[in-house]
Amino acid sequence: MSLPAVAMRGVDLSLGRGAARVHILRDVGLTIAKGEAVGIVGPSGSGKSTLLMIMAGLERPDRGEVAVDGVSLGTLGEDALARFRGARIGIVFQSFHLIPTMTALENVAAPLELAGQRNAFAPARDELEQVGLSDRLSHYPAQLSGGEQQRVALARALSPNPSLLIADEPTGNLDEETGRAIMDLIFALPARRGATLALVTHDPALAARCDRIIRMRSGAVEDAPLVTA
Ligand code: ADP
Ligand code: MG
Repeated sequence: MSLPAVAMRGVDLSLGRGAARVHILRDVGLTIAKGEAVGIVGPSGSGKSTLLMIMAGLERPDRGEVAVDGVSLGTLGEDALARFRGARIGIVFQSFHLIPTMTALENVAAPLELAGQRNAFAPARDELEQVGLSDRLSHYPAQLSGGEQQRVALARALSPNPSLLIADEPTGNLDEETGRAIMDLIFALPARRGATLALVTHDPALAARCDRIIRMRSGAVEDAPLVTA
């Protein structure tokens, strides 16, 4: 029996100060198996993005436990957590977050160089080829379309060969056809490497392509199936 890709138990988080303090996650527990593709859905403001931040170790919970690949994130200091994230977790956001002064190739090579890999450009080139961008290596983000920028962001997220890919509404800024092509890659590339996918999406058709759906409501995981009136 292998360890789950993600295991959360009793996760609670509040953010903001004083009267503006918001209880965002309430006693969240979930398990995602290795290699599983999970869709996380729920109304706007229900805590989906915050849940992903906790899963990625970008936000620490007030209470509860989070383990990725069997490693309890709470036991890691900031440097160890950053190294762990860099090696094991890839993240893509709705807005692409590329570094504007770097070419596509440099953007994808950056996390590999950060991890101390020599000659990061060869694997970065391979990654860009897998997302269909072999002919855009020297382009800067501003010279690329939205869909192309998201392909670069995906190549960057996957370049360290993470065991977990986290995607927060990755096609939210793209037109339907472009979004569909990106989603085909987001489902295919991690699956081909045996990696796990945690995808937040508003799109029922995308959620339906996942192995399983986790529903959030008011900061909690809603186990009961939705009853439509
Ligand atoms: P979703 O992704 O499901 O739309 P979020 O996780 O972004 O939801 O946000 C959940 C709730 O937490 C929202 O009510 C949001 O306003 C609140 N929230 C998110 N970040 C902060 C923050 N840094 N400080 C205070 N409240 C926040
Ligand atoms: Mg969100």
